[in-house]
Amino acid sequence: MSINLDDRAGDDDRMADGEKIVKTQEWRQAWRAARLEERLTNGMVRCHLSPRQCCIKEGRNGFCGVRGNRGGRLVTMNYGKSVHLTEETIETEAVNHFAPGEPILSLGNIGCMLNCVYCHNWKTSQARYVDDRHVYHYTPEQVVETALRHGIRVLSWTYNDPVVWHEFVCDTAALGRKAGLINLYKSAFFISPEGVEELLPHMDIFSISIKSIDPHYYKKYTTGWLEPVLEATKQVLLAGKHVEVSTLMITDISDDEGTAAKVADWVLRELKPTVPLHFVRFHPDYKLRNTTRTSIPRLVRAREIAIAAGVDQVYLGNVFGSEWTNTYCRGCGTLLVRRFGLNATVEALDLQGRCLKCKRPSNVRILPERRRRPRVSTLPAGISQFKVFDWHGDIRSLHVQALNAGQQEGRIFYRRRFTGAQQDTWRFVQLERGESYRFIVAKSDNNEIGPEFAVSEGIRVAQHEVFDRAHFPTLAIEEIGEATNDRSPLPFFPGNQVVARAQT
Ligand code: SF4
Repeated sequence: MSINLDDRAGDDDRMADGEKIVKTQEWRQAWRAARLEERLTNGMVRCHLSPRQCCIKEGRNGFCGVRGNRGGRLVTMNYGKSVHLTEETIETEAVNHFAPGEPILSLGNIGCMLNCVYCHNWKTSQARYVDDRHVYHYTPEQVVETALRHGIRVLSWTYNDPVVWHEFVCDTAALGRKAGLINLYKSAFFISPEGVEELLPHMDIFSISIKSIDPHYYKKYTTGWLEPVLEATKQVLLAGKHVEVSTLMITDISDDEGTAAKVADWVLRELKPTVPLHFVRFHPDYKLRNTTRTSIPRLVRAREIAIAAGVDQVYLGNVFGSEWTNTYCRGCGTLLVRRFGLNATVEALDLQGRCLKCKRPSNVRILPERRRRPRVSTLPAGISQFKVFDWHGDIRSLHVQALNAGQQEGRIFYRRRFTGAQQDTWRFVQLERGESYRFIVAKSDNNEIGPEFAVSEGIRVAQHEVFDRAHFPTLAIEEIGEATNDRSPLPFFPGNQVVARAQT
């Protein structure tokens, strides 16, 4: 399949009926000094954060739309401006070899140094579409305090792309580290060596999306270029960081055997065989919707190729309930970690990450036992509201956003519903007065129908359908109305589509 990108310049911010997508962008009006600035002559500045090295005139913005030139100085416009903080699990970030099943606090922001035609976070990565109502304001202290209060040990810098949030990421990650938190960086990693150097003191884990090893692919589909991504990945591995690599396998574009072989070969040559590799299932999105999800047989074939080449552990992403997401011992074949979607259970590893049966190291890092979410078998009195959600089509996870508008502390309870007699107990999240908290619930078993929720008085709940991992939905079901779309997230990108057509 080839793709016609001629109409890529046709981006606009209007719906087909002429209504503006973006209502207000007050968030752009406040800025602060940015790092990695070079002052040029004639009042221009150069940004050294990403390989674009934008030279920006007074009053203009760089490619990412969130860094610009104000008064002859490089500024950042998105410091502390975020999508809603969200509790997820570490599997959301294509990280399978660090604390399986660990809760993380995911943080995403506005803008991106790339503009991939299939971006599944285009509503936040492309700054011109970001409306004020989807922007939340946090300080580094608030982020760290939220994580600690909810018993979360990992801050995850993710979604649109953390590169363009550099100053806030560095400040908050440093503060979190002081408080004993671990930092995870999930990125397409189109970043300069200087940018990487500034991250290294703060980050523990890097989950890097290498979309292809073909330079033409990068130019054609991402607007970036390949070499800096590869160099930055080598740089963090060399610095001793935990690294995992993922490749999005796009139907008829990058789901072929050649792509799998080249990615595996590069991991083996330039990284090491124990770096986990993830082949990730694609869904149609943004400007690339006239196509289908990646076929599972092609993903399985990609995995076989990488394993045969010598990569130790190769996983499939966005594929549910299969052995391709589990971790097995490379020595004796014992099931070490069982996974279903974004849920994981450690089955047979000791605290040193060795197989319990044959003692072979698994290269999976295990953290000491964490605080578990509290549970009750029956609901207390005073529950005023119930909601149920049924998993359907490709919707197998849900963001639940709860606002405590009551006069005292409140709780949101949830449990899983199953076919047959299986019963779950109620877990709950404690919310301070005035607190807004968002967390993911993900399908855990083929027999699970969906979650149900119950809340105490004063708590308002919104549900957001999630398509695949690391997707941040901006609109709630309550805003969209009855959810009927199982194939691509809503809202659809209203601008021009690229045309995908079979190669001749
Ligand atoms: S981060 Fe990259 S895209 Fe944004 S202004 Fe700097 S060099 Fe340009």
